[in-house]
Amino acid sequence: MKLPNYEDERKRTNEEVKFIYLDDEFNNDALKNKKYFLKTYGCQMNVHDSEELRAHLENLGAVETDDLDESDIVILNTCAIRENAHDKVFGYLGRCKHIKEQRDLIICLCGCMAQEESVTTEIREKYPYVDIVFGTHNIHELPKLILNHQKKQDIEVYSIEGNVYENIPYKRDSKISAWVNIMYGCDKFCTYCIVPYTRGKQRSRKSIDIIDEVNDLVKCGYQEITLLGQNVNAYGKDLDNEVSFAKLLELVAKTGIKRLRFVTSHPWDFTDEMIDVISKYDNIMPYIHLPLQSGSSKILKLMGRRYTKEEYLDLYKKMKEKISDVAITTDIIVGFPNESDEDFSETLDVVKKCEFDSAYTFIYSPRIGTPAAKMKDSVSLETKEKRLQELNKLINHYSNIKNKEYLNKTVKVLITGISDKDNNKVCGYTETMKLVNVDAPKDTIGKIIDVKITDTKSFSMDGEIV
Ligand code: SF4
Repeated sequence: MKLPNYEDERKRTNEEVKFIYLDDEFNNDALKNKKYFLKTYGCQMNVHDSEELRAHLENLGAVETDDLDESDIVILNTCAIRENAHDKVFGYLGRCKHIKEQRDLIICLCGCMAQEESVTTEIREKYPYVDIVFGTHNIHELPKLILNHQKKQDIEVYSIEGNVYENIPYKRDSKISAWVNIMYGCDKFCTYCIVPYTRGKQRSRKSIDIIDEVNDLVKCGYQEITLLGQNVNAYGKDLDNEVSFAKLLELVAKTGIKRLRFVTSHPWDFTDEMIDVISKYDNIMPYIHLPLQSGSSKILKLMGRRYTKEEYLDLYKKMKEKISDVAITTDIIVGFPNESDEDFSETLDVVKKCEFDSAYTFIYSPRIGTPAAKMKDSVSLETKEKRLQELNKLINHYSNIKNKEYLNKTVKVLITGISDKDNNKVCGYTETMKLVNVDAPKDTIGKIIDVKITDTKSFSMDGEIV
């Protein structure tokens, strides 16, 4: 049994990261006729990790089911960013328990929540029916953990992350767009964020391995690649003799992939060189997600974000000037401890100045183990909720305006599937990451087509093939 602890997760050692190339050891029929049910919570990183979980299980012959009641193995791939994500997972475990009381079922819990000391303690004390708990650093051990599982609870969560694994198998959700991890972990330690603990220290992959993966995806016909990391533009800083993120972007752009994107960037690591590369290559999409978090320099300092309101605005301006037709989205937290009315007004001021294309907005949620969770907070929940409403109103106002600018224009859309809104339509994304429901035949799926925008809303647009 290995249990996580916050103390070790916070540590950053100088120990050299090893690059371990996995072999095909677990490719047999050991789980033939077994069905697995996989539920994923949280960010793109978790969605991509679930693609790895699927591959491990299917390499052992298991098949996926979307019906919990007929599954033999349940995996909850969890998120630790907000309190309500915890509540949802523990609620779901109750459902699994009920099924397990009637028949055999292996219940596994993994992802960021599994890396939390408080969660593993709770699982050991109150959820003995959870069979296997593993963390973000040993996803590749899932086959071994399942095949060796006896009746008693196994908790195998490493606090120290260690290595970078290569040759990871993935069963990708899409045959059109693919995620490619370029780094793991984060060393920024923003005071509200649990990621540096749950995902460990920053470990970049070697650019040569990233380019190999991208080349394979291009050969397989993928149209779009999104480079993935908690803080992508810090790429390479942890390795000697490795290229910068700007250079990596350029190398990936040169593979000939039709569309290249990346998430998530930190304003502090965004260099002029990156802006130049993005503006130079047509296949690097003019879309940047640039988390603001707060418009108040005082709150940004308390958050440990390493930039001021003015520096963010300068960067924003530079991007708008140099990258033609760039769309910029953001994340904003309201109600960080002791955010005053003036601080909140500063946030509204930045939103008004930037006119973001859209934003993910949240009420601050304290995470045990982080410095911000220890800060005293005098702001009531009622005030925080009111601020969130006011902010959302403003964000939606600008989203509407931005989308309206597309009306009657013809734009390139990568068609990714059937529209959720109307089964007779297809849907896809513009270069600037706007969702469009398109009147076009189904054989356009997987292609980039010209679409004339006929109607716009806050969160999507309608269009027809030209
Ligand atoms: S940069 Fe992002 S992932 Fe890293 S600590 Fe800050 S908020 Fe968390």
